[in-house]
Amino acid sequence: MSNGVVSKRRSTRERQLPHRFHNENEFEIKMVPKTKDFQEKELLLEIEKIKSGNVKLMKKNDGMKKENGKLKIKRDCNRRNGEILDQFLGGMRRKLKDMNTVCFPKIQRKIEDSKENHEMELDKLEKFKEYKEEQELLNPTKTDMDKRNLIEDLKRCPNCKKYFNSHINTPLILGCGHNLCRKCALRDFNVDGETECQECGVVEKSDEVEYAGSHPICWAVLSIM
Ligand SMILES: [Zn+2]
Ligand SMILES: [Zn+2]
Repeated sequence: MSNGVVSKRRSTRERQLPHRFHNENEFEIKMVPKTKDFQEKELLLEIEKIKSGNVKLMKKNDGMKKENGKLKIKRDCNRRNGEILDQFLGGMRRKLKDMNTVCFPKIQRKIEDSKENHEMELDKLEKFKEYKEEQELLNPTKTDMDKRNLIEDLKRCPNCKKYFNSHINTPLILGCGHNLCRKCALRDFNVDGETECQECGVVEKSDEVEYAGSHPICWAVLSIM
C-alpha cells in the first residue's frame, strides 16, 4: 500500500476460472455469448443446414421416383409376360386334357379294335388252313397228282404199259439205268438181238449182255408194287 501498488483482489469467480482465460470477461465473451443476434445467426445457420439437407433428400426422392417408374414398367412387362404364359399354359392344359379324355381313349379303342380284327383274321386263317389241309387230303392238288402219276408210271413197263410183277413182267435195269419188263426185254432180244430202251432210245446189242433178260432186277420198283 505504501508503494502505491494496490494488489488486486481476485473475486471468487475469477479464481474458479480455468487458466486459459485471463479474466472473467474473456470467458464471458468466448463461452457464454448468448446474445439475441448470435442466437438468430445460429438458428439461420441451422435452417440453411436443414434446407440443404432437404434439397438432398428431394434429389434422392426424385431418383427413387425415377427408379420406381422403371420398376413399374418392368413389373407391368413381367405381368403381361405372366398373362401370356398363363394363357399358353391354359391352352396346353386344355390340349392335355383333350389328349387324356378324347385322343388316348380313341387310339386305345382303335388299337383294341384292330387287335380284335387281327385275332379274327388269324382265326379265319387258321380255319382256312385246316380246311385246306382237309381238302388236300380229300382232293390232292395238281402237284400231288403229278407225283402220284409219276409213281404210277414207274410201276409200269414203259414198253407194254403192264404193271411190273415178280413173274413174267419183272422190272429189269437196262445198261442206261431205265427199266423194262423181262417179257419185253426177251421179245426184243429174240426179234433182232437188241434191247432198245423206250425211255431214252439206247440200244443194247446181244453181245453186250450175258444172255437175254440177264439184266439185274429193280427191287426198288418191286418194293412199291
Ligand atoms: Zn413190258
Ligand atoms: Zn434208257
